[in-house]
Amino acid sequence: MIEFELTPEQHLIKKTTREFSQKHILPGVIERDEKSIFPKNEIKLMGELGYMGMMVPEIWNGSELDTISYVLAIEEIAAVELATSTIMSVNNSLVCHVLNHYGSEEQKEKYLKPLASGAKLGAYSLSETQSGSDASNMKTLANKDGENYLISGSKNWVTSGISSDIVITFCVTGRKENKNEISAFIVEKGTEGFTVGKKEDKLGLRASDTCQIFFDNCKVPSKNMIGKQGEGFSIALNALRGGRIGIAAQALGLARSALERSIEYSKERIQFGKKISQFGSIKNKLAEMATDIEAARMLVWKAAYLKDQNKNYLKESSMAKLFASKVAMKASSECVQIHGGYGYIQEYGVERLMRDAKITEIYEGTSEIQKLVIAREILKNN
Ligand SMILES: Cc1cc2nc3c(=O)[nH]c(=O)nc-3n(C[C@H](O)[C@H](O)[C@H](O)COP(=O)(O)OP(=O)(O)OC[C@H]3O[C@@H](n4cnc5c(N)ncnc54)[C@H](O)[C@@H]3O)c2cc1C
Repeated sequence: MIEFELTPEQHLIKKTTREFSQKHILPGVIERDEKSIFPKNEIKLMGELGYMGMMVPEIWNGSELDTISYVLAIEEIAAVELATSTIMSVNNSLVCHVLNHYGSEEQKEKYLKPLASGAKLGAYSLSETQSGSDASNMKTLANKDGENYLISGSKNWVTSGISSDIVITFCVTGRKENKNEISAFIVEKGTEGFTVGKKEDKLGLRASDTCQIFFDNCKVPSKNMIGKQGEGFSIALNALRGGRIGIAAQALGLARSALERSIEYSKERIQFGKKISQFGSIKNKLAEMATDIEAARMLVWKAAYLKDQNKNYLKESSMAKLFASKVAMKASSECVQIHGGYGYIQEYGVERLMRDAKITEIYEGTSEIQKLVIAREILKNN
């Protein structure tokens, strides 16, 4: 039977996260965006409330919730500030996920526990200058040296690269059948030979820090390898498959916020003696936004449901991300349009939605890459 109803616990998560975002994240959003200020106190508080390791078992200090609860929370946080939801999403879907599923008991004790409780913050570092969509074409090397690996190279676009304590990084450990053999490592900030580059000055998502990181013969103990040597690329892709559901939920939250702001403004703004919500073209925009958002929500929930049921959700997570990010772009642009000139100035806070929305079509696999994944799956299975 198809269920569209949330459980009482899921309702509660939605309600409490909405209240939390309004009370603790909303103040300061404009300033954080303008000055690129990392939401340090907000993230700390979110850790204390269990938002940083939502799907991690309680024995590892997580909240042990399902993926539906996670996407509900991400939607609410993203509806207020996309940047904060990105920091949350990387820590949950990428970093904690990898350690929970592939980490050793020792790694879980030492790294997963503080990451899931929010005592520490994690980053996930796959992309390099020459390898974005073609991620396996990386150059960062990890050479075995006794009981350690020596890592050399650089990584690009690391979300929370500056503010994080722990980085999961993917390196080449050899060549097999003319392909890079890739392995995953846990690297602690402060390790000799590990440096962080300057903060990127971005179009949107400005409160989240993004930077390059550099490794110069950075000595990492062999016990910090996650999984086996050569398993790194499949670990990276597995994390992204789940991560894309989180990005889709972010896009959904942003789009919903654009709709809510549009409804509110169109019921206030008077032109030609009427509220602009009474004009047919504005009604059309609102109706299309609402329909798109509902469709995006169904795709997000379906992907999350399949993941919770341990079913294959590769195609569905790509579909959810592809569609929801497109909806976020369209809804945020229409929101600015409905606000007219006021939409174009910073004070009203809706131009940020448009700037922030774009990233959901780029990171964790561009829209073009999502289409490749979807096409591959439908051609394989039909
Ligand atoms: C703000 C921000 C945060 C990020 N955070 C992280 C992070 O935390 N960790 C991390 O590892 N990475 C991160 N990234 C990197 C991000 O995942 C990459 O930017 C993304 O995967 C695209 O790679 P690229 O930028 O190299 O673009 P490219 O791969 O060079 O793509 C350029 C264009 O070509 C298209 N294209 C590429 N290949 C194909 C193909 N086969 N078919 C059709 N079209 C194609 C792309 O869709 C795109 O339109 C972040 C990026 C940004 C901007």
